[in-house]
Amino acid sequence: MSVPKVVFVLGPPGAGKGTQCQKIVEKYGYVHLSAGDLLREERAKPGSQFGELIENYIREGKIVPVEITCSLLEKAMESSGKEKFLIDGFPRSQNNLDGWNNTVAKRVKLLFVLYFDCPLETCTERCLARGAAGSGRSDDNVESLNKRVQTFLSETDPIIQHYKKLNLVETVDATKPAEQVFQSVSDIFDKIEA
Ligand code: UDP
Ligand code: MG
Repeated sequence: MSVPKVVFVLGPPGAGKGTQCQKIVEKYGYVHLSAGDLLREERAKPGSQFGELIENYIREGKIVPVEITCSLLEKAMESSGKEKFLIDGFPRSQNNLDGWNNTVAKRVKLLFVLYFDCPLETCTERCLARGAAGSGRSDDNVESLNKRVQTFLSETDPIIQHYKKLNLVETVDATKPAEQVFQSVSDIFDKIEA
């Protein structure tokens, strides 16, 4: 078995990470692991030990303790049997980064960090529209969104800066329509796969 390859996908809530990841999966054969989706799945499991804790963190726009998130990510990687992963929405805090570096990081190769750059107002509008259209997410409302944006600025942005210093960040302008954004994304993956 070769070493699993990982691309972290970061950006503010509503930047289009999930949408673009779907397209990357189709074109480049990566496995998409959304940390948020894995947490929501765990929350929904009857009798989950962490269900209530996860719901409280998500509604408050706070970041779930890394032990929970990392173990869900690692289980999903193992059970996929695959070796190219998009890890979407993680690591989004120093605690996430430390937890990852002390565990899974030793067993995988981080290729780069794909960063979707988008003004926060645009992102908030997209999430509110998504909520109004029936996303069913308990955090697509004004109160949760304000908190998510604050968390992005105070906790996630420093992680992006950390990876920028390591020259590991590929930035994409995420304000354009999804198809155009994917053009830029494809340019990056074509370069990596070449
Ligand atoms: N979350 C978390 N740790 C993670 C990823 C997500 O605690 O590694 C929680 C956090 O509360 C976040 C919420 O899940 O606000 C939704 O995350 P998701 O990535 O689904 O939102 P997006 O950024 O895609 O809108
Ligand atoms: Mg998402």
